[in-house]
Amino acid sequence: KPVQSTQEQFKPEQFRQHFPLICQHSLTDLSCEKHSPLIYFDNGATTQKPNCVIQTHTSFYQDINANVHRGSHRLSSQATVAFEQARETVKNFIHAKSIKEIIWTKGTTESINLIASSLGKKILTQSDEIILTVSEHHANIVPWQLIAEQTGAIVKVLPLDAVGKVDLIQLDTLLTNKTKIVCCAHISNVLGKKNPLIDIISKAKRVGAITVIDGAQAIAHFPVDVQALDCDFYVFSAHKMYGPTGVGVLYGKQALLESMPPYQTGGEMIKSVSFNTKTTFNVLPFKFEAGTPNIAGVIAFNQAIKFISQYDHGEIAEYEQLLTQYCYQALSQIPQVTFVVADMPDIPVLSFSVDGHHNHDLATSLDSYGIAVRSGHHCAMPLMAELNISGCVRVSMAAYNTLAEIDYFIACLLKIMNQEH
Ligand code: PLP
Repeated sequence: KPVQSTQEQFKPEQFRQHFPLICQHSLTDLSCEKHSPLIYFDNGATTQKPNCVIQTHTSFYQDINANVHRGSHRLSSQATVAFEQARETVKNFIHAKSIKEIIWTKGTTESINLIASSLGKKILTQSDEIILTVSEHHANIVPWQLIAEQTGAIVKVLPLDAVGKVDLIQLDTLLTNKTKIVCCAHISNVLGKKNPLIDIISKAKRVGAITVIDGAQAIAHFPVDVQALDCDFYVFSAHKMYGPTGVGVLYGKQALLESMPPYQTGGEMIKSVSFNTKTTFNVLPFKFEAGTPNIAGVIAFNQAIKFISQYDHGEIAEYEQLLTQYCYQALSQIPQVTFVVADMPDIPVLSFSVDGHHNHDLATSLDSYGIAVRSGHHCAMPLMAELNISGCVRVSMAAYNTLAEIDYFIACLLKIMNQEH
């Protein structure tokens, strides 16, 4: 696909130069004795930030720091304009219909808590059903368990098929006319496999269920079009896509958001407050944004989306696919390595265990070589139970990682395995 004239060609080495923390500690040779590199393979937890995002964050406090939506002075207007421009950017980025459908939250976790609490109270009654997949992150399990307890609804669990995707045949058997909500990650943070969302959403619709999609892992790797998906809700966090921590997005269809009661209450989300008449609420999206938001974070997030959008997405995806294949093949050559799912993942997220080595010990040993990976249950304990493992090691890469880093990681992994046995 030809690169649009406004877009910069994606060159991995140049892309990497935008990330100061990564560049400061680049791998220069394969001996760890001479310097201490940082091989950052924990991007599924959070990505590093490019200079432009760091600078935008700092310059908010240096140049336009003021509260939004309430001041009549110049600084407040400037801050409000920049803050609302970010909402417009997100709207366009995920192809929502209106800025009223973009609610700022602290992150994916808060977005799901908001939906579970507000929508749950509105629509769930005794023995209604909520379907969750077994591979959900705890953030997309626990809020539903709590609201189910409060309303008498039942949580039903959808298993996976042999390649780690949602089992569509089982979904057919779980869906009933009591199913009110179906929740599913676009991509699991452990399995790295893209779930068949179009099928899941259309099946849920057939029984009139509302769909909640956790896009925390997918948003950094795939273009998302919420209108094409036709999901009711889509949620994600800025920090997993080169943006700051403490900022998240809740996309919801306007009519549904209009029908839902407020989540948190306080300033900004009200229209009028009175001790004599009923307190009334603000219009969307402000109805769900009580209190002072993370203004600097939201404005820096706008910069992160602009940064990533200057590249042709296909080129980044192609490079990430190369990293995935290369790492998958290299790990496959090691007989003691077992992947949690046999198939190659769709994004550079590879989870595995190594015979005779505890996942935490491996992660600690890799850290001594400057390699940052994640180990443990990955906030997906039901999935670990389903896979019959207590945990695993996860390598999760981003577009600034390199093939040389993978070579170094494999060499260190082999060294650790040989040293200990
Ligand atoms: N859902 C998935 C699939 C995730 O990977 C994560 C974070 O790792 C979350 C939800 C929670 O995201 P946050 O901690 O940004 O709220």
